[in-house]
Amino acid sequence: MPITLPSYIGRFAPSPSGPLHFGSLIAAVGSYLQARSQHGQWLVRMEDIDTPRMVAGSDSDILRTLEQFGLQWDGAVLYQSQRLERYEQIIEHLKQQQLVYGCQCSRKQISDDGGVYNGRCAPLNLSSGPLAWRLKSHTVECQFTDLIFGQQQIPTALAQEDYIIKRRDGLFAYQLVVVVDDIDQGITEVIRGADLLSMTPRQQALCSLLGATPPRYGHLPLAVLEAGFKLSKQNHAAAINQWPQAQVMSKVLCFLGHPPPSDINQAPVSEQLTWAIKHWQLGKVPRQMEISQTEFR
Ligand code: GLU
Repeated sequence: MPITLPSYIGRFAPSPSGPLHFGSLIAAVGSYLQARSQHGQWLVRMEDIDTPRMVAGSDSDILRTLEQFGLQWDGAVLYQSQRLERYEQIIEHLKQQQLVYGCQCSRKQISDDGGVYNGRCAPLNLSSGPLAWRLKSHTVECQFTDLIFGQQQIPTALAQEDYIIKRRDGLFAYQLVVVVDDIDQGITEVIRGADLLSMTPRQQALCSLLGATPPRYGHLPLAVLEAGFKLSKQNHAAAINQWPQAQVMSKVLCFLGHPPPSDINQAPVSEQLTWAIKHWQLGKVPRQMEISQTEFR
């Protein structure tokens, strides 16, 4: 019997560095609704590559919270920490194509140069010492069409920066592994927070460089405490598993431009989600990079 691949595969990719907070729940619900409204699969991937930032037990805590909010994923959860050989293999492949070079610049040097790396180490052919490994800029477009924000133009210096794919401390960089995983999991569409919007052209380009078709990308507004302050584990955004779920879910849906009608907004999360899947339209999601928490309290 021929195998038919599902035509839509989406994902939620939290970093298990603490419990799920309101900001990440928005990304989870937005990507879930987009996948389910298209009868697609919704995968969960634990981005536990940055080991010093990981907090033991927060992966299971996050999964429990997703379940409490009625967000059931498909298949097994993928852990990046179990895929190190695969990432090394990709780096070797890129090295063989002369697309990678060692870099010894400090953060200070780069910030003194304006914050975007200027390729200083590219001609040096460094091979020893503690080195970070950078991907040579290849054909990276500065424009892309976002499913929510529409046509986007990213500053050339940022889009075409030679970015780090393996860090000086030996850890693989998010910028590399996110692309390798999206390819290997067959992701067709990425719905995630707007903080990653400017990284999209480089991720699309790496995907093509590795011989795959890039997924489509859509970015959701970020929940912020006040302008410029993203809700995050670092600023101790309250863990949402302590709050009444029905209330939180209806807040998330309001935030995403889908306020549930009054007979639904106090209903159990499963009922709210069923309603939201039926009514979900990306075009209704606010085209705002940031929305302050006070606006939807
Ligand atoms: N792991 C990233 C985060 O928690 C998300 C990466 C992505 O969706 O591309 O912010």
